[in-house]
Amino acid sequence: MKKAIYPGSFDPVTLGHLDIIKRSAALVDHLIVGVLNNSTKTPLFSDERVNMLKEVTKDIPNVEILSFSGLLVDFAREHNVQAIIRGLRAVTDFEYELAMSQTNRVAAPDIDTIFLNTSLKYAYLSSSIVKEMAMYGGDISKFVPESIVDIVRERYSSSYNIKANENGDIK
Ligand code: ADP
Repeated sequence: MKKAIYPGSFDPVTLGHLDIIKRSAALVDHLIVGVLNNSTKTPLFSDERVNMLKEVTKDIPNVEILSFSGLLVDFAREHNVQAIIRGLRAVTDFEYELAMSQTNRVAAPDIDTIFLNTSLKYAYLSSSIVKEMAMYGGDISKFVPESIVDIVRERYSSSYNIKANENGDIK
């Protein structure tokens, strides 16, 4: 059974991520989407990231959503995964991704990293761009799956309001 893991922050999941999930699920028997809990980076969406991913992948039968913390290679080993999937948008992603994959290869020579290039229409898209757009009330429906548009919009409008309130921008 060919098993792979697609790890990331998914804060929140974008159409670019979903594209990589669909394409990699077609290549393997079982795909784990690993939602990273990183102690140095507080996500805007914490546990909801798993639920959002479950919602947007519910029609893809061989995809499983799990959260993890610690080393990716340990998590991959625990689940008998043979490959790590990463997406590449531009050369700017490449340097970091190459170093990460080489590090993982030293730590776990039996697990390979497979890079999928972005579909061109999502080449510009990142979770940060989605958050920035949502923060200023922009239309995010072209960036994230339809079923999570409202969740992202609401979260951002409420946290933006709290900040604005703290700053005295909202009286
Ligand atoms: P991380 O914090 O690990 O970079 P992200 O959630 O930002 O997590 O991204 C997870 C993976 O998805 C990374 O390999 C990233 O390069 C890839 N990715 C993100 N956005 C896109 C996109 N628009 N097209 C293709 N791959 C993407």
